[in-house]
Amino acid sequence: MKTSVRVPFNDLSRGLARDRGALLDATSAVIDSGYVVHGTQHAAFESELADYLGAGYVLGVASGTDALEIAFKAVMPEGRSSVLTAGNAGSYSSIAAARANFNVVYADVDPVTLCLTVDTVQRRIDESVGVVVMTHLYGFLGDAAALRALCDELGIALVEDCAQAIGATRDGRHAGTFGHAGTLSFYPTKNLGAVGDGGAVITGTAEIATRVRELRQYGWQAKYCATVPGGANSRLDELQAAFLRVRLHTVDGLNERRREIVARYRQAAESVPPSVLTVLPAEGEHHVAHLAVARSPRRLDVRAQLGALGIQTDIHFPLPDWNQPAFAEFAPDVDLIATRTACDEVFSLPLFPELTDDEVAVVCDAIRALR
Ligand SMILES: *Cc1c(COP(=O)(O)O)cnc(C)c1O
Repeated sequence: MKTSVRVPFNDLSRGLARDRGALLDATSAVIDSGYVVHGTQHAAFESELADYLGAGYVLGVASGTDALEIAFKAVMPEGRSSVLTAGNAGSYSSIAAARANFNVVYADVDPVTLCLTVDTVQRRIDESVGVVVMTHLYGFLGDAAALRALCDELGIALVEDCAQAIGATRDGRHAGTFGHAGTLSFYPTKNLGAVGDGGAVITGTAEIATRVRELRQYGWQAKYCATVPGGANSRLDELQAAFLRVRLHTVDGLNERRREIVARYRQAAESVPPSVLTVLPAEGEHHVAHLAVARSPRRLDVRAQLGALGIQTDIHFPLPDWNQPAFAEFAPDVDLIATRTACDEVFSLPLFPELTDDEVAVVCDAIRALR
C-alpha cells in the first residue's frame, strides 16, 4: 500500500495562490504594454534587483545555467581554459563550463560547510584555471571576500553561483557582489522563483556587464553585427520580469521563514544521535536556507522511516559530478573525500516558506521518532 503524503517536499501551488492577484495584474500590465521581451518590466527588474543587491549591474538571462555559461565566457582571462568548481553542487557549473568549451577542475569542499574554501581551492589550482566558481550551496554564503582576494592575487576570476543564495549577506554585502560576477536562477523552486525559467548575471564592472549584454544577444556589438564569439540567445522575458518584480520585495521575509523552519528541525534533531541524523544549520544573515539538509550515515533507512510517515525527502545531490557519465572526462586523479562523503550522506527535508506550522510539527515528531 502506498503511504499518502502528509508533508510534501515542495508545493508551488501555495505560493502561486498567495500571489495570484498580483501575478494576474502583472500579466495584464505586460499584455497591455505591447512589449514581450526586453521592455520596461525587464529594465525595471534589472535595476530593482541591482538596488536590492547593492550591485553595479544586473543582466537578465533565460536561466541560471545560461547565467553561468555567459559569466564564464565573459570573465575567463586570455590564455586560460579551465573552470574550477565543487563536485557536490548539482553539476550546473560543469554543464555551463562544458557548453562554453572549457575544461573542468574539481576541488574538494569543506567537510562542515560543504562549500569550497581558500584552502581547498589552493590545493587544486593549476595554471590552466581562469575561473573559480563558488557555489553558495543550500543558501550558505561563506568567506567570499577571502576567496576573491586569492583569485585577485592569482589573476583569475571569481564567479559566485548564487542560485540558492539570493538575499544572503556577509558584513552587509550581498552574495553575488564579492566575485567578478555572480549568477542567479529564478527557477520556480528557488528562493526568488519565477513562473517559469529565468536567470541573471550580477557584476560590479562595466566591461563585464557590456560583455554579458553582448553574449546574451547573439554576440552582437550592434544590431546584426555578431562581433563576439560564443554569443547566445538568452533572454528573460517581460512576463517573468514582471512576476519577479512582484516577488522581489517578499524575498527577505520568506528567507526568514525558511530559517525558522530549519531551526525547528535542528531542535528536533537534538534528541537523535549523529549516527542517525544531523541537520545542517541555517542561521544568520549569511544563510538563506534554500534547502533543509540533513546528513545520515544510514540515509537509505532513515529516508524510508520518514517516507513511511508520509514525509517526502530528496537528495541534493546524490553523485559527485565526475561520477556522472557526462563529466567523467574531468574526473580528478585524487580522492576528494569530503565531496564523496557528503554525496553519500546528505538528504533534504521538506522546506518551502508556505509549509504550515502543523506540517513542520509532523516532520519534527518524525525526526524525534527516528531509530
Ligand atoms: C538551480 C541551480 C542552477 C541552475 O539554474 P537553472 O535556472 O535551472 O538553469 C545553478 N546552480 C545552482 C546551485 C542551482 O541550484
